[in-house]
Amino acid sequence: AVDGGERGVHAFLHVNAEEALAVAAEVDAIRAAGGAGAEALHPLAGVPIAIKDLIVTVGQPTTAGSKMLEGWMSPYDATVISKIRAAKLPMLGKTNLDEFAMGSSTEHSAYGPTRNPWDLDRIPGGSGGGSAAAVAAFEAPLALGTDTGGSIRQPGAVTGTVGVKPTYGGVSRYGAIAMASSLDQIGPVSRTVLDSAYLHELIGGHDPRDSTSLNEPVPSLVDAARQGLSGDLTGVRVGVIAELQGDGYEAGVQARFNESLEVLRAAGAEIVEVHCPNFKYALGAYYLIMPSEVSSNLAKFDGVRYGKRVIPADGPVTIERVMGATRAAGFGDEVKRRIILGTYALSAGYYDAYYGSAQKVRTLVQRDFDAAFEKADVLVSPTAPTVAFGLGSKTGDPLAMYLNDVATIPANLAGVPGISVPGGLSEGLPVGIQFLAPAREDARLYRVGAALE
Ligand code: GLN
Repeated sequence: AVDGGERGVHAFLHVNAEEALAVAAEVDAIRAAGGAGAEALHPLAGVPIAIKDLIVTVGQPTTAGSKMLEGWMSPYDATVISKIRAAKLPMLGKTNLDEFAMGSSTEHSAYGPTRNPWDLDRIPGGSGGGSAAAVAAFEAPLALGTDTGGSIRQPGAVTGTVGVKPTYGGVSRYGAIAMASSLDQIGPVSRTVLDSAYLHELIGGHDPRDSTSLNEPVPSLVDAARQGLSGDLTGVRVGVIAELQGDGYEAGVQARFNESLEVLRAAGAEIVEVHCPNFKYALGAYYLIMPSEVSSNLAKFDGVRYGKRVIPADGPVTIERVMGATRAAGFGDEVKRRIILGTYALSAGYYDAYYGSAQKVRTLVQRDFDAAFEKADVLVSPTAPTVAFGLGSKTGDPLAMYLNDVATIPANLAGVPGISVPGGLSEGLPVGIQFLAPAREDARLYRVGAALE
């Protein structure tokens, strides 16, 4: 017996039934009336969507998976939410996640884990396990996630769904609670590549409220996905990243990956090998840069401005003691671990050794990508080194948990887009195939992704 609702999956933290039904009824009425009103409807009008609970919404609580924000209601909508409302997609509710998006299994949620619909004793990936599980369990056809180091793509891989991390700046981050601002991106989760293309086109585009938003039109991703569905990849050079396979990758994952390369070859793609020698330092650099930004971004949860406030039971009630008590009670262990790591890495005397070195590695990773994209139009790797692991099997070992992101992190460090598409099963569990493209070339991902699907 498993608890948590939804036949044990527990993808949702909040269900927005009344509003979702009202939006669906409104779309039905517009369609029934026909004419110009019906023609003006967005292609996704009436298609329900689930929202990762890191993205702020008016009228629904936003918790970020943390006790710190329990009961908090945002006074404004994220830009992506405004676009979803305008296009009339019924919002089904808010999905579970690792606290403040820190994790690879959704076990760090303060509201209990989400389970993988393929096997309820296994994790659905993280941090966006709720969004991926909702789509995999046929609870929602579409969802939104956020990806700082893989939190859209790795859950996609282990639940057999499609997940996309857009080019950094391609989708507005306004209203996504910041984890590590230089790495975070909002992106689509769906069952097919074409569905993600529609959603990505809807949520993408310039936003003056996000200072890192690209001021360019959204590329035509739906056309690219349709082109890919024809199954013809003649002339497309696919670069196999030598460093992201072999040692550390499960045999079943490697086997499905090799078969996927054959599918691409049969579709006319040219398969080449590329080397990214600095990718082996990417995980280490990420675990300095990300916590540094975390320690800064989470400073605002001080018991004064948002959510929870804890007054110490005894002793004097000073600002410091209220903040300390609030943060002690409001944050879980993984969040505290990262705040402490980040604060240390940014301390005077350590800054150059840690944060400074990590930023240099970041540049080297970007150069590896530049060199690889001279030889290939897209790069390919397994999305994650393993299939979904057992619930509780890595919670006691943070480093083992961190290693699951080894293939997804380089894209965030370089700001390039990535997609995970289902690549078959290993012992009954889904394996994901990741494609990466140069910044602003998200369309290429939809073409090759749809061709593989
Ligand atoms: N699993 C990674 C981490 O724990 C990625 C998180 C994310 O992309 N939000 O940091």
